Amino acid sequence: MIADNPTNDSTLDGALDSLDAGVLLVDHELRVTYANARWTAWRGVAIPSGVPLATLVELAAGESLLELKATLADGEPRMLHFALRPAHADSASRYIVSTVRRVGVGLVIEARAETDAELLPLYDVARRLAEVVDMAEVLRTLCDIASRQCQGSGAAVLRMTGKLGEVVAAVGNVVPARGRCFELHGSLMAEALEHGELVADENFGGSGRPLMRAVPELLLGPILIAPLRAHGETLGVLAVTRAAGGRPFHDRERDRLRVLADHAALAVHKSLLLQHAQSADRAKGRFLATMSHELRTPLTALAGYGELLADQVIGPMTESQLDILERMRSVTNHLSAMIEEILAFTSLEEGRETVRPSEFLAEDLVRSALAAVEPMAEQKRVALNVKLGAGSVRITSDIDKARQILVNLLGNAVKFTDAGSVSVRLRKASTSVRLEVQDTGIGIAADELSRLFRPFAQVDTGLTRRHGGTGLGLYISRRLATLLGGHIEVSSELGIGSTFSVVLPLEWQGR
Ligand code: ADP
Repeated sequence: MIADNPTNDSTLDGALDSLDAGVLLVDHELRVTYANARWTAWRGVAIPSGVPLATLVELAAGESLLELKATLADGEPRMLHFALRPAHADSASRYIVSTVRRVGVGLVIEARAETDAELLPLYDVARRLAEVVDMAEVLRTLCDIASRQCQGSGAAVLRMTGKLGEVVAAVGNVVPARGRCFELHGSLMAEALEHGELVADENFGGSGRPLMRAVPELLLGPILIAPLRAHGETLGVLAVTRAAGGRPFHDRERDRLRVLADHAALAVHKSLLLQHAQSADRAKGRFLATMSHELRTPLTALAGYGELLADQVIGPMTESQLDILERMRSVTNHLSAMIEEILAFTSLEEGRETVRPSEFLAEDLVRSALAAVEPMAEQKRVALNVKLGAGSVRITSDIDKARQILVNLLGNAVKFTDAGSVSVRLRKASTSVRLEVQDTGIGIAADELSRLFRPFAQVDTGLTRRHGGTGLGLYISRRLATLLGGHIEVSSELGIGSTFSVVLPLEWQGR
């Protein structure tokens, strides 16, 4: 364990062995004179006195060795990264970060394993990438992380568009290339994609590769490029660079970029999917808004002509003709209610709805909402009961939006009740009011309840379904309730009936 006890003091010796850090002494020829227990544990076998440091650690490209010599010469402490040489062929290589200081004519090398100190951020990487949803932000974050993790001076994400490569995100010394395209043929990027493996160039700036020809002002030295692949799809490459004349990338940094590229490819893939979904959603929103506007105009005209006929301005109508006109009126009303619902949905989705508060009585709100559903209740012979409670309840809120919510809940209650009644109850609490709509209708199964408030959700979706509607009413109602600082609750039993309640603050607090 101890190559050469420098102190002959067993307490100090024990103390050095108990450290989590590895402590190594080397002489001016970089031969080991002491190794504490941590170093022996890393090595796996005893470290004999006098072995060259180079047999224990991998000194990348002779550079670290020079750095050690520099510390011997000028006495300045330095921080270095090493790969530990495993004593057994099958043991995994391990990276360490060390601080090197001059002590007398030799050096003390204090090291800690990188797994604790630096590999953990890789888990962080996955978390950080998962947190950002915007594609540009994901790519920029990724470049930042890659440049830092591999101690680069810059990083970039490149993707292919046809026969061209394009720098879609960049940080540090690759920024001048952002948004620029280059010939894929003959590029290092094409090599990385072709081999599906990491590729490197120690002097990319002098390589005359297509990217350098396209952006000659780039001052690049060493470069590392890793392919970004997820679920069998090639998304592009991740590149890390150093300035011209900078030291080449170590194996440690290559390994790190490989792992990073794997994490990143999944994040980029997810973000792409999300982007597609969002643009499809926006297209759907635009389509709905345009179509509803287009449908509303002829429908209004249709309703107007119907009224003209019904008023018998053009000429007398028979009883059966008037009956048909009444049916036409009910159908056009229904259709325009659905169109209004879609318009309300699109304006909520686009965040165009604003609250216009005023003071009103809860009783008035209930009465005006009931008036809207009375004709349907009468037609279906469903009784409407109202329990307003004692005393009047004053609310400051947006009465139109509150009415729209209540009309939706009452409309559903009547629509989904074939026999029995619909009851409205008003309950006042200290800072809120609860409006309960209870029906004796078909009820809703417990496992369907959570689905109801999603846009276009309907319990009965078969072609033979009995009840019309857009499946937007409850979604809109919940969004409006939230806008007013309230919420909607539901309880229901299949075959027995449902109770939907909207709870609103007595005083809208604004946002
Ligand atoms: P729509 O009524 O236009 O279909 P809603 O969003 O208002 O859309 O309601 C969604 C679904 O929730 C309805 O299709 C129906 O299946 C169910 N639902 C809503 N209210 C009731 C109710 N009072 N009783 C039974 N089912 C209801």
